[in-house]
Amino acid sequence: MSKKYWFVLLFVGFQGFAQKGITFEDSLRGSITAERKWWDLKHYDLTFDVNPDERSIKGLNIIRYQVLAENQSLQIDLQFPMKITYIEQDGNRLSYTKKGDNAYFVKLIDKQKVGDINSLSISFEGKPLAAKRAPWDGGFSWDKDEQGNHFVATSCQGLGASVFWPCKDHMYDEPDSLRMTVTVPDSLQDVSNGRMSKMCIDARGNRTTTWEVKNPINNYGVNLNIGNYVHFGETYKGEKGDLTCDYYVLPYHLEKAKMQFKDAIRMLQAFEHWFGPYPFYEDGYKLVEVPYLGMEHQSSITYGNKYKNGYLGRDLSGTGWGSKWDFIIVHESGHEWFANNITYKDIADMWIHESFTNYSETLFTEYHYGKTAGQDYVIGTRANITNDSPIIGKYNINQRGSGDMYYKGGNMLHTVRHVINDDEKFRQILRGLNKDFYHQTVTTEQIENYISSKSGLNFSKVFDQYLRDTKIPKLVQKPSKGSISYRWENVVLGFDMPIKVSVDGTEQFVYPTTDWKKLKGKSMKADRNFYVE
Ligand SMILES: [Zn+2]
Repeated sequence: MSKKYWFVLLFVGFQGFAQKGITFEDSLRGSITAERKWWDLKHYDLTFDVNPDERSIKGLNIIRYQVLAENQSLQIDLQFPMKITYIEQDGNRLSYTKKGDNAYFVKLIDKQKVGDINSLSISFEGKPLAAKRAPWDGGFSWDKDEQGNHFVATSCQGLGASVFWPCKDHMYDEPDSLRMTVTVPDSLQDVSNGRMSKMCIDARGNRTTTWEVKNPINNYGVNLNIGNYVHFGETYKGEKGDLTCDYYVLPYHLEKAKMQFKDAIRMLQAFEHWFGPYPFYEDGYKLVEVPYLGMEHQSSITYGNKYKNGYLGRDLSGTGWGSKWDFIIVHESGHEWFANNITYKDIADMWIHESFTNYSETLFTEYHYGKTAGQDYVIGTRANITNDSPIIGKYNINQRGSGDMYYKGGNMLHTVRHVINDDEKFRQILRGLNKDFYHQTVTTEQIENYISSKSGLNFSKVFDQYLRDTKIPKLVQKPSKGSISYRWENVVLGFDMPIKVSVDGTEQFVYPTTDWKKLKGKSMKADRNFYVE
């Protein structure tokens, strides 16, 4: 998701400061505990009964998992005030203990043998946390549309899916597939991830829809969207064949949506070119209108950008290029490649989602409006960089880094691209990432090493500089008697990034270090595509 305004950045920063020391609960939530590590998620079969009048839900999650190591204690997360009503395995009710507000440790009776695939049924109910400011401060958005109908949606990045359903609430492990069966009053309809396999109305006047996700899915990607929806759709002929594109909007927005959602096909054209095939053909692509701004829910991108171009009508680059397209359609869909296909293992590495997706905005602009437009866009967004704290957060406590993961991260990737100095090679690296880390959860190190190895250049110091430090490299120069002395200042130890400069009007690469070097010429100007001072 995108955090735009300064107060949002402040808010994230504030959360960071509010966290005085690391609590036991932070570690339970953010680390791969012994009670999580021994079992591998295979499938979630989720049932929800949603009562919008009472703002309550009731449900069942049947978790299928494979035993990787012997253990009889299993951690499940479900956040207060939601509660578990029972846990069952093979017809036996199981006992469990609770640690902190949100972690349950289930005592298994059946011997857990390595290689076995077992399942666990967890029944739950309650009034889940209402979102204060979705999607950043998430939970349930219990809203009404302009015609007075219930309009309900979930969002939970960072907060975690355990805010409304019991799960292994850590990003490193994803189920291979998922099914959701959602019951709502029959005047409404739920739209969730993947494809609808069934819809029926029961005698009580409730509508039940079943959604099948045939691919791995991260837990914050799973979502409920409930409204008085109308549907339209189209087919995109893409790199892997026919991709169904389905759109669910409120009836009084149908005509606007038919115009605005044309950006979905333009998005697919641009991103399949840069990143490779859309990663979830089996599950289709959807845009679903919601009462908040939007979120990258896998195969059901949620949309609340008011049918305006830019970010709620505003161009974040200040160059005009950001007003040519719908920010939420482009940015949130960019996450299908970076977030849903390639997913961080730990939220400290959230830049893997946001920096690449921020840069996808530039690549979209370049694809449709040309190279200079793309450059103007990404350089324009530098005004939003704060350099307040490092982009990478703290590991194992569910803590993200600086909001600079957006604009600074995008500018870092733009800089990396210009160090590589070969657009086709850069594009193949982006496509290669999506192919070689297809449907995987990854670490920063894996992404860094991949880019260095595929480009043939060692970017480790560049990543240290931009991801783990707040200083921006300064290319310092001293002209004297027909020659220029130059070096890097304000950099991490060993920083030696090559940079394109113009010396007396002639472009060339130079290879500064923190030691002075010299070349012939009167003046030197750094290429604007490199994010340096
Ligand atoms: Zn985002």
